Amino acid sequence: MRRYSLHYGGLGMVKTALIYPPISDPTSGYHSLCCLAGYARQFGFEDIDIIDSNIDSWLYTVAPEQIGRTMQYINERTAQLQALEQPTPIEQMELFYALKVQDMNFVEALPAALHTFRHETEFFDYRMYTSAVETVMLWMDALSLKGFPGQFKGFSLATTGFFNIFSSLDMRDTRITEVISQPFTDYFRNELIPGIIIGDYSLVGISITYVAQIPFALSMAQHIRRSCPEIRIIFGGTPVSDYWKYILNKTDFYAVFDSADACIIGEGESALVSILQALKHNKPLPASPNIALHPRYQAVPDTSALEIKYEDICSFPAPEYSKLPWEKYLSPFPFIYYSPSRGCYWNRCTFCDYGLNTDSPTSPWRQYPLDKIMEDLRTLAVTYKYIYFSVDVLSPALLLKLAAAILEEGLDMERRSGWRNTGRLNAVICCIKADVPPSRSDLNPATNGY
Ligand code: SF4
Repeated sequence: MRRYSLHYGGLGMVKTALIYPPISDPTSGYHSLCCLAGYARQFGFEDIDIIDSNIDSWLYTVAPEQIGRTMQYINERTAQLQALEQPTPIEQMELFYALKVQDMNFVEALPAALHTFRHETEFFDYRMYTSAVETVMLWMDALSLKGFPGQFKGFSLATTGFFNIFSSLDMRDTRITEVISQPFTDYFRNELIPGIIIGDYSLVGISITYVAQIPFALSMAQHIRRSCPEIRIIFGGTPVSDYWKYILNKTDFYAVFDSADACIIGEGESALVSILQALKHNKPLPASPNIALHPRYQAVPDTSALEIKYEDICSFPAPEYSKLPWEKYLSPFPFIYYSPSRGCYWNRCTFCDYGLNTDSPTSPWRQYPLDKIMEDLRTLAVTYKYIYFSVDVLSPALLLKLAAAILEEGLDMERRSGWRNTGRLNAVICCIKADVPPSRSDLNPATNGY
């Protein structure tokens, strides 16, 4: 096992990997880590890499050699299952999914599907597009045979079946999270961990946006912890905050996130910089606002003891989108998520709750001034044709001014937005989306629910 030389040398020398775990939308990179990297850069922390292990892990599975190994396993397992006189219900389910995929020629079909997703013309050819979607959905079924049969629901996890991703008891059970993560374990061992070792990182931050990422993130962290014990590991993201907010006994929180040294609860910009500054000066991880340290560093405080801070978003720089591997995504065009606001001024819909506040569904409402949005869009539209407004709420007054400013300036950007009115038509508009071709939502769990 390798020992690590921690890079605490000088300003900006805390080598950091920010990782986006499986499994989620393969059509674009999420912007949470780009926002953090851009913010940290303002404080001199430039040595930050973003690893989109969501797309990396899936692409690892579709390399010809990996397809061959997966199908060989499925064929052998099918023969074993068919030889059983009285298969159990679980074995019957395994056989169902094995028979469903065993005649597929994935070695030819998957590269063709990838080509379609990335090709400007083929992507918009409905017949080719639906065939490509069918192929990758069947591949997810094939991959599920390495974990729990049928565990995937597209690029997400099924919410019914062998485990409950909303249960802290299930998510703290490493036997369950290991099995769920099995389709990507070879990627963890053969690509991710060697990359982390070569990168010589001092800090790994794992950002979880969707609940379906939790078991993969937990398993990934355990692999990193075992191979690189000296690296500091932190978790952040809305499901982590949600766990903190709702877990009945706070002392159980780190039974789930045990492989982390700290978790960031709520917004992460200032908390990440506090951690980087502590590491730079070779100091212990700080108990700063929004940081819940592992009990091995301090006793777990109760909710009221953890100070929650909300950021002054108007001081944010543009996110560092260039750190994402744009050539890898299943999309003919790069499209970016852009968040010119946070929180909501209505802030009462219980279904909206994703953990970013202590006593209401989402966080306090803040939004960029028009000038800042236009300045960002001017810069971003040069590189990214599709800009996806990813917000809880933009005020109607600002939206009208923004639309007029974009038209007046003739910005070269494609827009399509879905607006959902909740409750008071004229009081609140929830901006749900989006500047993406409509069919892309077939692959994107972030948008297909709306
Ligand atoms: S109005 Fe929209 S953003 Fe605000 S609390 Fe309700 S669902 Fe959430």
